[in-house]
Amino acid sequence: MENKQKSIEGSSGPWYGAEPEIPESAPMETVNTEILIIGGGTGGMTAAIFAGRMGAKTLVIEKNATVGYYKTYNGVIDSRAQREAGVKGKIDKEDLVQELLHYPAQYDDVDRRLIENANPVDEKLIRLWVEESGVAIDILADELSEYGIRHVAETDVGDGHHGKFKIFPTHTKFIVPLLKGGPKGHVHGGVGVIEPWLVKKAKSFGVEFRFNTPLVKFVKRNNKVIGAIARKKNGDYIRIEASRGVLLCTGGYSDDHELFAKLNPQAAAVTSLYYGQKGNTGDGLKAAIWAGGEKARYGTAGLFDRGMVKPGGKAGPPFRRLGPTLGPLDAFHMGSQPFLKVNMDGKRFLNEAVPYDVIIYPLQYEKNHVCNVIWDSKYWKNIESFRLVGCCRQIPSPTKPRTYEGIGKTINRVLLARGAMTGYIQKADTIEGLARKLRLPVAQFKATVDRYNKMAKAGVDEDFGKPAKDLIALDNPPFYGVTNAGWMMHTTDGLRINEDMQVLDKEGGVIGGLYATGDVAGGFFGTNYYPELIVGVASGKTITFARHAVLHMMRGTDTVPAGSWGF
Ligand SMILES: Cc1cc2nc3c(=O)[nH]c(=O)nc-3n(C[C@H](O)[C@H](O)[C@H](O)COP(=O)(O)OP(=O)(O)OC[C@H]3O[C@@H](n4cnc5c(N)ncnc54)[C@H](O)[C@@H]3O)c2cc1C
Repeated sequence: MENKQKSIEGSSGPWYGAEPEIPESAPMETVNTEILIIGGGTGGMTAAIFAGRMGAKTLVIEKNATVGYYKTYNGVIDSRAQREAGVKGKIDKEDLVQELLHYPAQYDDVDRRLIENANPVDEKLIRLWVEESGVAIDILADELSEYGIRHVAETDVGDGHHGKFKIFPTHTKFIVPLLKGGPKGHVHGGVGVIEPWLVKKAKSFGVEFRFNTPLVKFVKRNNKVIGAIARKKNGDYIRIEASRGVLLCTGGYSDDHELFAKLNPQAAAVTSLYYGQKGNTGDGLKAAIWAGGEKARYGTAGLFDRGMVKPGGKAGPPFRRLGPTLGPLDAFHMGSQPFLKVNMDGKRFLNEAVPYDVIIYPLQYEKNHVCNVIWDSKYWKNIESFRLVGCCRQIPSPTKPRTYEGIGKTINRVLLARGAMTGYIQKADTIEGLARKLRLPVAQFKATVDRYNKMAKAGVDEDFGKPAKDLIALDNPPFYGVTNAGWMMHTTDGLRINEDMQVLDKEGGVIGGLYATGDVAGGFFGTNYYPELIVGVASGKTITFARHAVLHMMRGTDTVPAGSWGF
């Protein structure tokens, strides 16, 4: 036991450090509110709207100068938009619960050995999302409809499968119009952006915001969290007491890569690229631990298989950070398509027709923790026949209105050209030429492609069982390839919470007054992130739990009379 603690904490003390002392002489403003929301991202902005519409005096403190990136793709079940689009009935709730339950796996903290059959998720939380996500999003959609924002459902599930994996139509989206006279910043790069509308809505209920005001620590009285201390831009402190409760929505720790490598070593090993919420450095997680909270013992991170690496390069820290200009466009978006994938020995190592969350972690067993994605000049036809959905979709959805356009043919072509220009994507007229450019052993790579082509013609993958539909010969030069690894977006191994989103201590007891939702809360996903094919479940559960936490804080009021809030 002692050894285990040591390996997690390292020689310089625990990863979460010590709670900061604030000198008595430090300038301190004091504020009182009913609900304090810490972090104005997906969870925080949702909670702000729910708290405001229920009449609670609410304050949001946010570390950055603006609210965080709000996910408009939300995974929910049985929402009005889905019923109207005919999705109801297509989702078997019990199937969905079981899918989320069998996904997780748990690793031993010391030697990363997989602990067989260890299930680290809390089934109660999964069922809560399944039961309450529809109503949560419907209410949000009603509130946002006055701005012309529409909540729509995706009905296209491609072939209904990704290889052997079943797809669940949980995918919905808020479509934000381009409106004249909207709040500042609601149009960005020619598209409608939701965040300024959320702020406008919350403010319409009287919710107050303090930007550039990061949480420092919680204030406790009689073992209960009664508020928090934050730091203002000028360096002074602010002490906020919240009579109904504090909701922690500070996200994970994806923006602290040292901490990420420490707590999520298996994910860090296969990551080459980072693009996530600026400022998510685990502040809320640490503060809750100082206040007695308990974090999940295993690491979980959201990784896409789209982190290009230069030929001969490796995955692992330090990660390339995507710049603000092209942002997520500057990644390899075809990474999740089931093209031929080979390791640095020029050999296949898995069935490529599996979801990205399944394909990325096996890279830890391959040289340099990367693979090479190979395609030829008929790649767009291949993408059309792969028919991937959700955030792997590249061809426009037939659903109207469109929930996700995918990158699309033209933008994809531009991105490929850019990838080639910047030295990532390689092109050659022969397989041998491509092998040399990707620094693969020529003879072995040629043999792999020949065998792959032979199996493709026969329609049977004798080596890895890839479905015939996705087994397409590489016979149309020029040939292309890129070395690829993970793009890390966020972490989800957060605090232990109960089914009312209350933060729990080491003994499983409730820490009064303290709630958590989103990535700072754990217990929902296993070590390998969330299933790609349950599209939007991370943001969908964040929104659902934000509402639930606020309802719990508001029990006994006119909006949530005692005994009536149990849904
Ligand atoms: C690029 C990308 C793509 C994604 N795609 C999907 C997807 O397709 N489907 C899906 O379900 N999920 C997706 N996610 C994940 C999803 O966005 C998150 O699970 C969700 O946003 C979590 O919400 P949150 O409120 O916990 O955190 P966030 O939305 O990250 O918000 C956290 C907020 O807290 C603030 N904060 C941090 N520290 C402090 C502090 N000390 N004091 C005050 N404020 C603080 C931050 O500035 C930020 O505004 C994606 C994430 C990224 C980054």
